[in-house]
This record gives sequence, structure tokens and C-alpha cells, in this order.
Amino acid sequence: SIADGGEEPDRGPDPDVTLRPQRMAEMVGQQDVIERLRIAIDAAQVRGEPLGHILFDGPPGLGKTTFATVIPSEMNTTVQMANGAGLKAPRDLLPYLTNVSRGSVLFIDEIHRVPRAIEEYLYTAMEDFRIDIVLGEGVNARTLNLSLEPFTLIGATTRAGMLTAPLRDRFQIREHLGWYTRNELAEIVQRNSKKLNIEVDPISAGVIADRSRSTPRLANNRLLWVRDYAQSKANGNVEARICEAALDMIGIDHLGLDKQDRNYLDTLMRVFLGGPAGLDAIAHTMNVSSDTLEDEVEPFLLRSELLVRTRRGRLATPKAFEHMKREMPDRPLP
Ligand code: ADP
Repeated sequence: SIADGGEEPDRGPDPDVTLRPQRMAEMVGQQDVIERLRIAIDAAQVRGEPLGHILFDGPPGLGKTTFATVIPSEMNTTVQMANGAGLKAPRDLLPYLTNVSRGSVLFIDEIHRVPRAIEEYLYTAMEDFRIDIVLGEGVNARTLNLSLEPFTLIGATTRAGMLTAPLRDRFQIREHLGWYTRNELAEIVQRNSKKLNIEVDPISAGVIADRSRSTPRLANNRLLWVRDYAQSKANGNVEARICEAALDMIGIDHLGLDKQDRNYLDTLMRVFLGGPAGLDAIAHTMNVSSDTLEDEVEPFLLRSELLVRTRRGRLATPKAFEHMKREMPDRPLP
């Protein structure tokens, strides 16, 4: 990735990049968010000022990074990409800040992972376009005031609740990205099938949409797999029956749950009798990190009413037992 600067072996064009919309007009769904952003962009351009700082929150794969790339292209400006997990000390942040040009965008993904010590630098950078750095130690310490070009910070987080109030309050625009409808996902599948030069009829696009957990990134991944499968097994013919067989083969069921999602429900039901169980206990049993479960698995299970979060822990719903074809144990209501 750009942020860690690591050398990657050449695997050809990254499909996630080629399928990523380049302009706001190519984005599907999120129409209210897009409308508000267009107004803010217009106004900033009329005034000749940088766009206000923007915070996007929502589950992974719903378009936060996409917005962070289309906004600068709408504004004919450049973007630097950083990740909160990579900013460990103030010196990691400095190059980004000193590289901003007037009106350009600095994108910080996973901004909830920026450590407190660095967050303080962001306050003055965002508010006054300036940073004060302390050089040296003790009696020799002196403060260097550095002024920055006015810029726009775009932050993205899957955990809006983990941001401190002072940081959150410095974003003039805060947008929550919600789940996509079946029609929106089917539209994304159809548009991207054209980019990939394959023919996908509306019914097949619907099958892929149904099994994509309301998430564009997953719709794209499923489409790429269906393409491989169809090319290898069906002369490139994509039809509903082929889509179903292809997705069944990689363990994606008719609700769109993958193996990890079902493993979560299975663990909760088998080991904890459906709960309530603590997230850490479930994570330990599954041998995955609780962050992964909280970010990538639970949001869709909660939204599908397969899971509820109670004060005493996670609880599988009757619908989850039915989906997993398990008998519900006798247990007291929480
Ligand atoms: P996030 O940053 O929220 O994890 P991304 O912006 O990386 O999600 O989105 C993942 C992929 O999903 C993108 O590469 C893009 O191809 C697709 N995508 C996301 N949002 C949209 C959208 N509104 N319209 C079309 N494609 C989208």
C-alpha cells in the first residue's frame, strides 16, 4: 500500500482499484451524502477556500476510501493517503503535513487508531493550519512553529464512538455511510461487469447482490469469483444457476454469510448455548481478534437480526438458530 511503502510483487492491476469509481457521478447509492458533499464542494470553490474537514464512518467496504479519492478529483486537487495504524510518533505525521499543498486533501484511514500524542498535532493543524513542534529536551527545548498550507483532512473510521470529542468536533462535515440496497448492489454489479467485459443478466446480478451483505466491496469480490468460475466451468456464461453454484462453492450462503460469519454463529450456539457471551470469549474460542469480529463480522449479523448485543453479552436470535439449522436450547430470556 501507499502508506507502508512496501514493495509488492506485480500481480497486475488491482481489481479493487480498477473497479473503484473515479468520479462522484460514477458512485451508486449514498445519494443524500453525495448531495450534501456537492453543495459543500461548490461553496468552497466559490469562496476559493479549502473544503472543510470531513469524517466518514461506517462498516468496512461501504465507500469511505472511494469518497476520499473522488472528492479530490472533483476538486482537481491531489490526495495523500495515510493510515492511523501507521502513525506511531509525531515524526510519522510530519511529512504528510509539510507536503500538503493549498486546498489538497490528506486522507487518514482508521483515524481512530491515531495515538493521543499525535492527535494533539492534528488539532492545531486542522484548526489553524499550524503545528508547534518541541525540539530538544529540558532547558534546551524550544518550540518551532510551522505554518501549513490550508488543506482538507478526510478521516475514515469504522468506530466513530472511539474518536475523542475534540477530534470529532474539528470535522465540519460528518457523514455516516449506511448499507446498500439490493438494487444498488445489483446496479454496481452490472456496471462493473461491463468494466470487466462480461455479460451479467439482471437476475444473476440480483443473486450476487443478495449474497453480498449489503456491501459494495463484497459485491465486487463475489463478481470477480463468479467470473473466474464461469470462465473455467461454463464457457464464460454467467447465469443465476452458475452464480449460485460459484458462491456455494466458496461457502457463501443465501443470506450472503461467509464461513467466518457462520463460524461465529456456530461458536456462539455450540460453545455458549447462544449466549449471552462476551466478545473476547467468542474471539478467543474462534482464535481471531475481537477487533476483526467487531468490525467485519458483527455489523451485518446485527443488522440482519441474527445477533443482538445485550448488556450481558452477545446473544444469537431465534432467526440465527433457524438459519444455522440448530435447535434452540432452553434458556432464560435475558
Ligand atoms: P471503505 O473505505 O469504506 O472500506 P471502499 O471505499 O474501499 O470502502 O469501497 C470498497 C470498494 O467498493 C471500492 O473499491 C469500490 O469499488 C466499491 N464501492 C464502494 N462504494 C461504492 C459506491 N457508492 N458505488 C460504487 N462502488 C462502490
